Amino acid sequence: MSDRLLLATRNPGKLAELQRLLESAVPGVAVVGLRDVPDYPEAPETGATFAENALLKAREAVRYTGLPAVADDSGLTVDALNGMPGVLSARWSGRHGDDPANTALLLGQLADVPDERRGAAFVCAAAVVTPEGAERVLERSWRGQVVREGRGSNGFGYDPVFLPDGLERTAAELTAAEKDALSHRGQAFAALVPLVAELLGRS
Ligand code: IMP
Repeated sequence: MSDRLLLATRNPGKLAELQRLLESAVPGVAVVGLRDVPDYPEAPETGATFAENALLKAREAVRYTGLPAVADDSGLTVDALNGMPGVLSARWSGRHGDDPANTALLLGQLADVPDERRGAAFVCAAAVVTPEGAERVLERSWRGQVVREGRGSNGFGYDPVFLPDGLERTAAELTAAEKDALSHRGQAFAALVPLVAELLGRS
């Protein structure tokens, strides 16, 4: 028997990543995305934390589709900015999803911050909610530094200016597989798999 699990995203990269992780670990579960279910009105991300936003998105997906749902929320937290842009990462420059403007604004803000205080982390919260009302949420992070000039063309968002700890390449200079193995989202999805298996009764 094949049960459907909804990943509340329109991002094909995120969907493929969760499909790879889940479909091998939890046999009989097909992971589908928002493009595979009828449209529903998606509420803005109003939560104060990544975990709150991930839970809000997963609950909304369950309410509209009746399917068990996974959702994630992520962003960059910069030490010298007291954890910002944080949950506001996607619209830091004022326009949602304008990656070059968001990155340029961040680099300008950090221009006078010396190398030893340029620490940051990508953070991802992942949540799973079932139609019966069971909920789990967890968070994983990926530490690094914000460099002064972007390098690389892979990935998205702040990847070109994020140098992960222990590496000499920015996140935008890693292959997708290298990034998945290390990233906040890769770690969060991997940690969520056993919880999904448990909630769907497949553990
Ligand atoms: P969301 O979780 O897809 O809403 O992502 C929020 C925002 O955080 C994105 O628009 C990016 O600006 C930033 N972000 C989250 N994860 C990453 C990543 O892996 N690389 C670069 N930027 C990221």
